[in-house]
Amino acid sequence: MRIDIITVLPELLKSPFEASILKRAIDKGLVEIHFHNLRDYSSNRYKQVDDYQFGGGAGMVLMIEPIDKCISKLRSQRDYDEIIYLTPDGTTLNQSIANELSLKQNIIMLCGHYKGVDQRVRDVFVTKEVSIGDYVLSGGELAAAVLSDAIIRLLPGVLNDETSALTDTFQDDMLAPPVYTRPADYKGNKVPEVLTSGNFGKIEKWREQKAMERTSKLRPDLLK
Ligand code: SAM
Repeated sequence: MRIDIITVLPELLKSPFEASILKRAIDKGLVEIHFHNLRDYSSNRYKQVDDYQFGGGAGMVLMIEPIDKCISKLRSQRDYDEIIYLTPDGTTLNQSIANELSLKQNIIMLCGHYKGVDQRVRDVFVTKEVSIGDYVLSGGELAAAVLSDAIIRLLPGVLNDETSALTDTFQDDMLAPPVYTRPADYKGNKVPEVLTSGNFGKIEKWREQKAMERTSKLRPDLLK
C-alpha cells in the first residue's frame, strides 16, 4: 500500500510514522508513506497557498490551484483508489471504514487548514470525506495520522500475530473482552481462574461472554 499525504505542515506528521508498529510496517516495505508540502506547488513567490474567502468573513481558505497541481502530479504517476479529505463534516471514522481502506493500493490524504479547502477541491477531486470525531482540530494532519494508523495495523504482516487485529474492539461490532498478564495475583487482585486453566474451549467461551457483557453495558448501540 502507498499513502500520499498532502499538507502544509509535513513536520507535524512525521513523528507518528517514526516509531513502533507504523515504523516497522514502513521498514518491512508493507506500506510507503509520502509527504507532500503543498507550498512546493504554489505558483506564488511567497509560497502562498491560502487566500481570503469570497463573500468576506474570518479565516483563510486553501486555494484550489496548488492542490490541483499536487494531485495531478501524483495521478500522472499512478492510479489512486481514493482521494480522502480529512474534515470534521465527513463520515465519522469507524472500524469498517478502516477495514475497507486497508484493502486499497494507493490512497491520497488531503489535510485542510484554516477554514478548510476551497469547496471546488471537494467537488472535483475528493472521493471520500472522513472525520475522526465530532470536534474541530486546527489541521488535518493529526486526523491523517489517526486514519493511517487505523489502516496500516490491518495490513497483512504488520502485526506480529495477524489474528490480533481481528479480536480487537469493533471488529465484530463488539467491544473486546478484558485482558490480563503476569503476575496472576497482584497484591490480592487475581486474574480470573479460567484464564490460567489451560482449557481453551472454556477460555474462548469466557471471552465471548465478557465481550457481550461489556458491549451490552458500555455500547448497547453496537448490538442493534
Ligand atoms: N471550517 C471547517 C468546518 O467548520 O468544518 C473547519 C476547519 S478546521 C479548523 C481545519 C482543518 O482541520 C480541516 O480542513 C480539516 O482538514 C481538519 N480537521 C479539523 N477537525 C477535523 C476532524 N474532526 N476530522 C478530520 N479532520 C479535521
